[in-house]
Amino acid sequence: LGERLYLGMDFGTSGARFALIDKRGSIHAEGKREYPLFMSEEKMDWAPSWKTTLFSLLEDIPFHLRKLVASISIDGTSATTLIVDSNTGEPLWRPFLYNESCPDALPTVKSIAPPNHTVCSGSSTLCKLVSWWENDDSNKKSALLLHQADWLLWLLHGKLGVSDYNNALKVGYDPELESYPPWLLSQPYSQLLPSVRAPGTSIGHLKEDIRSNFGFPSDCVVCTGTTDSIAAFLAARATQPGKAVTSLGSTLAIKLLSTTRIEDARFGVYSHRLDDKWLVGGASNTGGAVLRQIFTNEQLEKLSKQINPMEASPLDYYPLQTVGERFPVADPNMAPRLHPRPESEVEFLHGILESIARIEAKGYSLLRDLGATQVDEVFTAGGGAKNGKWTKIRERVLGLPVSSATQTEAAYGAALLALRGIHEK
Ligand code: ADP
Repeated sequence: LGERLYLGMDFGTSGARFALIDKRGSIHAEGKREYPLFMSEEKMDWAPSWKTTLFSLLEDIPFHLRKLVASISIDGTSATTLIVDSNTGEPLWRPFLYNESCPDALPTVKSIAPPNHTVCSGSSTLCKLVSWWENDDSNKKSALLLHQADWLLWLLHGKLGVSDYNNALKVGYDPELESYPPWLLSQPYSQLLPSVRAPGTSIGHLKEDIRSNFGFPSDCVVCTGTTDSIAAFLAARATQPGKAVTSLGSTLAIKLLSTTRIEDARFGVYSHRLDDKWLVGGASNTGGAVLRQIFTNEQLEKLSKQINPMEASPLDYYPLQTVGERFPVADPNMAPRLHPRPESEVEFLHGILESIARIEAKGYSLLRDLGATQVDEVFTAGGGAKNGKWTKIRERVLGLPVSSATQTEAAYGAALLALRGIHEK
């Protein structure tokens, strides 16, 4: 028998991936699948599509490596919610997607939750649960709420009703008290809530029929998962307080490992628990989407080459795609600012990159002002991570070491959770 391997699967917004790693973190296999189209009554039926994708990914794992898999974990999109039959696990309703909003439930949720709680947003898991509870006439006695990752993991281990404290945050679980709060437990629909464990905790063995059909070993265990953005943070292996990951994708998102928990609904700032630490995050509306509106990727590369990153740009912009910003400035009326536009395209790009870097720096100082651990090193993920000139500009503006994260795939982070599930035993 060869060295044991750990399998992570990521169910993201546009497709699913797997990563198979060893205990040192080296990748032995990886792959990707698109979600197949399953329509019912002219609407996409996501549950069978995810289920098919799950088993396609298992088939994609090279056969000779399957017998080495010691554990499996899965991440899913945050607040993607299924209401299933608590006897059969079959969905009673089509899944509520991460970005779906249930504003009809907001007044009820706001009347029971503390002010500015994470659940007080139309797309929270709790709003989805309340909306279903108030509108559906089916048998509520045998209903159970699961997150996307919980349900996919259930298909593998067969024990209904298990979740993790990252996925459960947006339904109202309190990871500090390690329980659902009293204001939630007193509601009639609290009977639907799953039990909650730490991410990367062994739940049970992989089901016998799956083991034998696919050739996984008899000791292969399935572990609790997490959300996709936390899995992507875990992939960067920023494990010390003060380490942060900036994601420079369509938008700018920052995540910082802190010893203290901070929350501020005005800025959309909240904390996820990671063992004995807190993963603090904020997301700005600035980012690469604005760059894409102005420049092609080829232009970005060519123009960036001519920028001198040691020189500060005097241009002070606030690049936004549309009106409104939340973090690090809470102003729903903030207008995009990209003037004055210099004649030189190089100077223009320099001004935009430098302005986004200043917004990033302001984001980290806001987190510090709210009580988070001071940032001391930044790893970068997303399309902007490959721009070396931007990295140099950001190092100067942030006054910190900045580098690209070696691993940024959420599937890799999920594989690290699978590894953890074995070691915590
Ligand atoms: P998404 O959030 O859509 O997943 P990605 O992480 O794929 O985004 O990043 C895409 C973004 O990266 C685009 O908005 C694009 O403008 C930006 N980008 C691509 N190449 C560069 C580059 N060389 N320098 C800076 N930004 C870039």
